[in-house]
Formats: sequence, C-alpha cells, structure tokens
Amino acid sequence: MHHFTYREGHLYAEDVALEAIARAVGTPFYCYSAATLRRHFRVFADAFADRDTLVAFSVKSLSNLAVLTLLQKEGAGADVVSGGELSRALTAGIPGDRIVFSGVGKTRTEMAAALEAGIHQFNVESVPELQALNDVAISHDTTAPVALRINPDVAAGSHDKISTGRAEDKFGIPWAQARDVYRLAGNLPGIAVKGVDVHIGSQITDLAPFEKAFNRTAELVRALRADGHEITRLDLGGGLGVPYQHGDDQSAPPHPEVYAEMIKRIAGPLDVQLIFEPGRMITGNAGILVSRIIYHKEGESRRFLILDAAMNDLIRPALYDAWHDVIPVREPGSQGGKVKYDLVGPVCETGDTFARQRDLPELAENDLVAFLTAGAYGAVQASQYNTRPLVLEVLVDGDRYAVIRKRPTTAQILAMESVPDWV
Ligand SMILES: *Cc1c(COP(=O)(O)O)cnc(C)c1O
Repeated sequence: MHHFTYREGHLYAEDVALEAIARAVGTPFYCYSAATLRRHFRVFADAFADRDTLVAFSVKSLSNLAVLTLLQKEGAGADVVSGGELSRALTAGIPGDRIVFSGVGKTRTEMAAALEAGIHQFNVESVPELQALNDVAISHDTTAPVALRINPDVAAGSHDKISTGRAEDKFGIPWAQARDVYRLAGNLPGIAVKGVDVHIGSQITDLAPFEKAFNRTAELVRALRADGHEITRLDLGGGLGVPYQHGDDQSAPPHPEVYAEMIKRIAGPLDVQLIFEPGRMITGNAGILVSRIIYHKEGESRRFLILDAAMNDLIRPALYDAWHDVIPVREPGSQGGKVKYDLVGPVCETGDTFARQRDLPELAENDLVAFLTAGAYGAVQASQYNTRPLVLEVLVDGDRYAVIRKRPTTAQILAMESVPDWV
C-alpha cells in the first residue's frame, strides 16, 4: 500500500505531480510519501496496541530528520546503530527512553553519549562489548540497561548480505554461550540486565523463520529466569519484508496483524515489554527514486537507457541484486507494446546497472522514470562516487512538498577537502 499513483496520465506522489517536483528541484531525487509512512507505522503499532510495546523505528533504513520527526510525532522510538544516528534521533525529538542502541561495534565514546541521553537499552553483541560498556557505565556513575543479542542460529531466506541470524554471521552471542554470558553480565556492577534481543535478518517474507527464532528465544527467557535473572523485555528486532515486485504474490510478506498474532501467542505468557525495530516495512514502499533518461543507446544486441541516477544514488541492485519495479512518470497508453531495456547509470562500473532486459513501454530521452519501493536503504546508502552530488530528498504530504535534503554544489563538495602545502 502506497500513495504513488497515476492521475490523468501523470504519476503523482499523493496530490503532487512528480513532473512538477522534477522541474523545481532537478533530478535525480528521492520522494517520500508522508501518508504512507504514517500508515505503515500505525498499522504496525496498532497490531500491538493492546500490550506494553516499544516500536523503535530502525533509523538506518531511512534516517532523514524530517522522516524521523514525522515518525516521532506518531509515537515512534528509534533503533540506532551509531552515535550519528543517536544524534539524529535526539534531534528529531525522540526521547532517550524510547531509543535502543544496536550494532556490533559501539565505541566507548558512543556508549558514553547514549548513557548521557538516558537510552532505554543497549543491545550488546559480545563479551568484550559488555565489558567496555560496564567500564563506561561505572565511570559515569550509573548502570547501563542491557539486552544481550542472541544468535538463534536460524537461516532466514533473505539475501546472503542481509541474513544475520546464522551461527556463521558476525551478529549476536552464540546460542550455546548465552547463559554463561548472562551470568557474567549479572555480576558486572555497571550492567543492569533487562532483556533478550534477537534480529535474524532483513527482507524476510515468510513467518516460519521468525517463529522458529522467537520460540527458541522464549525458551531462553524461561531458562534465564530459572537462573535468577529478571528478564522484563524481549526485543524481537526488525526484518519483516516488503513486496518489491508488482504481481509477485508468492513473496508477499505477512500482514503485521498476522505477525503480531504469532508473536502474542509465543511471548504473551512471558509478561515482558515487547520491543520491535522495524525499518523496511515502514519506509520501503514510502519512497521512490525519480530519474531522467539522458540517452537512449542502441547496443549490438541491447537497448540501453542511460539515466541520470546511478549506483551511488541507489546501490541496492548492485549490492544485493535487488529488484526495483521501474515505471514511467508519464503513463503509457494502453495500446503501446513493450520493449526490453537495460537501465544503467553514468558511473564507470559495469555494476552500475539497475535492471537488465526489463519490459517497459517505449521510452525516449528526457522522459522521467520512477524506481518504486526505494524508501528503505536507498538514500541512506548514497555516496558521492564519481563526484556526483549526494542525492536530493523530497517529502510530500497531501498537496504540499518540501526539499528535506539539499543537493550539494560541486563547490561545497570540494570545500570539504584540502591540499597540504607540502604536496
Ligand atoms: C537493520 C536492522 C533492523 C531493521 O531491519 P529491517 O529489515 O529494515 O526491518 C532492525 N534491527 C537491527 C539490529 C538491524 O540491524
């Protein structure tokens, strides 16, 4: 469900024509729908409204301050994975006690900042990290609220680069060591053990791996309680997928209601606060990338559309072999045929290919196209490779829109660098 639809032959974001935005701000740009963001957050939060739940939006999926502020107003907390993201969440007005800090490599500086912000919980992923956090908490004369991230050794069927819950992945504390590490944590004066955390991966569209991991986790909560730990929170991570391909019902993710029902069945009897860290399911369908066709090139055996967007703006196809539906911003007539195109960017890498042999209506130079489902892990992974300016972002809400991240000028990019006088 999203709010990017054709009206009288033109693609709109809510009530704003994308052609009008393109004329005003240039291309390429990301465009987010406020209504879609709100709707996705509410559907998820409402599914758990009948119990003590913290929905901590995964900031890394889409971290623009305007988006964080919008979600904060819906009641979202934040799941952050760096000191930078912590600052973003706080700047957007998300209270410290609704922030959880995840990630395998938190530095002592980041830990100190999070303690000063009074965050709800650190999700700790290793013994050395636990010891470092203990030191930092003691030196701040406080205790750090902690959940240990346990690796349940469950393979979820998402891409290799976004699967995190297998024994060979770098994430979490190995299942077999969990009780020992909790014993250690319970004896550290700077650590307050609060809960258990799991996050098995991203873009998971099948309930079975979640259910398996959560059942194992519930079992662990019971064992830890028997060991004398007071476990009052259960953080079940993010990872619920979104449909990337129109008409592909097979990989359609479960509705949050169905997901919630499964979780309540497993976690209900434990009487814990539930914490979730959804990212993609809130932001994925809420964003598109709009790009202009620079050239139409006839290759030996292929027709290439060379776009003004490139892998530095949207790296998911290059990094994860990800599929994004591509649609023309000017709606094609019903009788025109389809043509197979390769859609590529201007970057000097073969990997700068968005789609191969894609069936599209006939397109021409200067036409605009939109990559759908680009809200999550799109703009946040953009770079300035090839000295292409960081991609611009726009937020639409009803009939209003605003630029929420400017495109830097080349002069501004160059001003970040300096040449020592001894060169
Ligand atoms: C990336 C990540 C998430 C969010 O994953 P989605 O698939 O976007 O929901 C949640 N928790 C942790 C620890 C993560 O690393």
